Amino acid sequence: MKNTLYVVIPCYNEQEVLPETTRRLKSKMLFLMEQNKISKESRVVLVNDGSKDHTWKMICEFHENDSLFTGINLSRNRGHQNALLAGLMTVMDDADMVISMDADLQDDINAMDEMVDKYLDGCDIVYGVRSKRATDTFFKRFTAEGFYHLMNLMGADIVFNHADYRLMSRRALHGLAQFKEVNLFLRGLIPMIGYRTDYVMFERNERFAGESKYPLKKMLALAMDGITSLSVKPIRIITATGILLALVGIVLLIWLIVKACLGTASLAFGIMASLWFLVGLLMVSVGIVGEYIGKIYMETKARPRFIIQEYLESKKTDKDV
Ligand code: UDP
Ligand code: MG
Repeated sequence: MKNTLYVVIPCYNEQEVLPETTRRLKSKMLFLMEQNKISKESRVVLVNDGSKDHTWKMICEFHENDSLFTGINLSRNRGHQNALLAGLMTVMDDADMVISMDADLQDDINAMDEMVDKYLDGCDIVYGVRSKRATDTFFKRFTAEGFYHLMNLMGADIVFNHADYRLMSRRALHGLAQFKEVNLFLRGLIPMIGYRTDYVMFERNERFAGESKYPLKKMLALAMDGITSLSVKPIRIITATGILLALVGIVLLIWLIVKACLGTASLAFGIMASLWFLVGLLMVSVGIVGEYIGKIYMETKARPRFIIQEYLESKKTDKDV
């Protein structure tokens, strides 16, 4: 086995951090090579996601000066998830394992050693999980942790406090390649691949330089994308609310009949009771239509129904023929 490692890094306007990121990565890669944990053909792949600054020019220079660094230039800004996928899919067949990380050095490079060890131990996917967020501002921590809670509440199963810092083996990447969906939320898809997985804890650092490319607006968009591309739970919530409203409506209607018998029923009360009942009914109907749309939506994704890990096939003997 050759154990070639490719490190894929999506970069959007990262000219301030790239010199330091590449310097630190180079020493880490050389160290891992010295220890014979990864092959000499291992590479760092910098994916330029349509940056407006000198990011691509710098990537070209790194590549010219050192064959350790390679680059991919996207035709325009397509967002972090797409940039990452572009990198993963491009190098999939050259690498035995791929680590994805951010350019800003927030993901602790030293966790790479443990990830590689776990790969050598037989793991196909190793998630980098933040042990704490002490260096994030209160606002960032609050919104980011709220993001994970909201996602789980809405039925999107994701690893808590794991972003996109992870190692994947070649066969896990081939599994990922079978997910053809365009609305991409990698964190939700990767647990669906299966295989042996493990975790590595690391402390998340402060951004080395520059500012976050994930403001609240982009984070909300990512959460929305994650929920709607992984789960049809929001539709179920509509149906459940509808059933609840209709039930309240029924109770009110029964009460109305009792009041009518006693001769104390009022028109206003009657209108209110019918309103609750009808709105409830309407929401249930929308929910049922939604269930079908949800099914169509899931079908259009054409996700793989299974991925085979091993097949213990018996060799055909002369007798079988
Ligand atoms: N990024 C990207 N395209 C974008 C936005 C971000 O490739 O449109 C990259 C960015 O260069 C970085 C990673 O995605 O390597 C994570 O972004 P950032 O550090 O700004 O997010 P945060 O850590 O604040 O959530
Ligand atoms: Mg960051």
